[in-house]
Parts: sequence; structure tokens; C-alpha cells
Amino acid sequence: MIVIKIGGAAGVDLDAICQDVAALVKQGQPVVLVHGGSAETNALSTQLGHPPRFVTSTTGFTSRYTDRETLEIFVMVTAGKINTLLVERLQKWGVNAFGLSGVDGRVMLAHRKEAIRIIENGRKIMLRDDYTGKIEAVNRQPLDLLLQAGYTPVIAPLAISPEGDVLNVDADRAAAMLAGAVHAEKLLLLTNVPGLMRNYPDESTLIKHIDVKNLEQALSFAEGRMMKKVLGASEALGLGVRSVVFADGRVEHPVMAALAGSGTVIS
Ligand code: ADP
Repeated sequence: MIVIKIGGAAGVDLDAICQDVAALVKQGQPVVLVHGGSAETNALSTQLGHPPRFVTSTTGFTSRYTDRETLEIFVMVTAGKINTLLVERLQKWGVNAFGLSGVDGRVMLAHRKEAIRIIENGRKIMLRDDYTGKIEAVNRQPLDLLLQAGYTPVIAPLAISPEGDVLNVDADRAAAMLAGAVHAEKLLLLTNVPGLMRNYPDESTLIKHIDVKNLEQALSFAEGRMMKKVLGASEALGLGVRSVVFADGRVEHPVMAALAGSGTVIS
């Protein structure tokens, strides 16, 4: 099993990815796809007059502040547009893709962060009304049913809380949890950079391999959203995934290249 997270950063070549996925599926290699939606959510929320707000937690992670209105926009973008159009594209390449979000069949169960502690203008404050969550459990049964019937699941980064609320979850970390749950050998995180750079954005400082023991150090090279990928990698490896690859989604045959070892391999 291979889990592939398709990044939403500009330049990622969706057709090239779908073509590779089609080749893998044809070879009998089961694939589960996960996608994000951050960039498009920013654009749509701005268009709808509710511009995005990002907050930095006291531990240094940046995330989207998701009030109810933002959550609904996130749902439109991820489970609506991005998911359906990715399924459309896969179907064009001959993959019998089946779109869902982590809400369907309670595939992803998350705890709502009732209050998040953030730093704003140097001061610590608590934010409430936030609809983001930390994934606690993955229910693989609906995915197994789909895979056994020959479908390729395409999963939007939404989860459900025990109280039944829909939550925005980080797609990189969702992909990591899913990869662990389906016992994937590999997790590929495709984005618009060649991998993790020691000195971003200097591509000559691309790190080819990171030993799991040195992940903590790798976290210090990552800025902004790259930090979530490093965290996701650590979670996936902790759940038994053998290797995680941060790879370029803009190149020819991005999936095959990542499987052949290009990008940053963490194992
Ligand atoms: P996606 O939506 O495709 O997953 P993200 O924006 O979440 O993409 O993450 C990829 C981005 O991380 C890159 O475009 C780059 O700007 C940023 N980044 C931060 N630090 C690093 C680093 N050390 N090496 C590579 N990319 C980095």
C-alpha cells in the first residue's frame, strides 16, 4: 500500500500525478490519496469577504484559525471542489477513484481543540470557537471495502469529533495517520519543492536522506507549513510506515520519481 498526499502549493502537476497513480493501480499496487486545500481556501475565503487568519501556537506551529464560517468554506473547497475535480482527473486517466472526506463513515476521528493557546503581538491569548482537530483514530474499514472492490480512495482533510462536529485537520498529518492505519510501506508527500532543504530556499542544500533519529534536528530546518510535514513524517514512522518521502510534484512522473528515491527520504 502507498499513501500519497497531493499538495496544494502552486505548480504541482496534477495530471502527471494522476497518470502515475493510474500506472501503479494498473500494476495492482493499491494507492490511497489524500489532498489539502489551504491555498484555495485562502482564495475563496477572501472572495467571500472572510479573509483567512493564521495564528501561531505557543509551540511555534502556524495554523488556520477556523471559525464556523471558515470551516464551511474549507468544506466547500476540500470535500467539494478539490476532491471532486481530483476524482474527475483520475477517472480521465482510467482510475476508478472514489472521493470522500474523513467525515464519511467516521474514517477520521479527531478531538476538537476546544481552546488554542496562541501568541499574538508577543502576548499569549486563548482562542475559542476553533473548528480544528487533532486526529485520534482512523477507521480503515470503509477504505478496505473500497480498495477490495477496486476503487481508489481520495480523501479530503476533514474529520469528525466524538460530539459529531466536522473539523479541519492538517492534510499532511492526516496522510500520516492514514498511512499508519492502512499499514502503508510508503508515504509520499508531494509539494512544490524538491524536498526538505537545510537552508531554504537554496535547492543545493536539499537533504537526500534523514535517519529517523535525526528528525528532531530536521524540524529546525523547516519553516512554516514544512514543519507539519516533518511532524507528519515522524508520526507515520512511529506508526510503522517504513519510509516517508517529501518530493517534488512539479516534475515529470512525480510519483515514480519519488518512489525511485528522489526528494528527501526519511526512514
Ligand atoms: P503543500 O500545500 O503543497 O503541502 P505547503 O505550503 O504546506 O505545501 O509546504 C511546502 C512549502 O514549505 C514550500 O513551498 C516551502 O515554501 C516551504 N518550506 C519551508 N521550509 C522549507 C524547507 N526547509 N525546505 C523546503 N521547503 C520549505
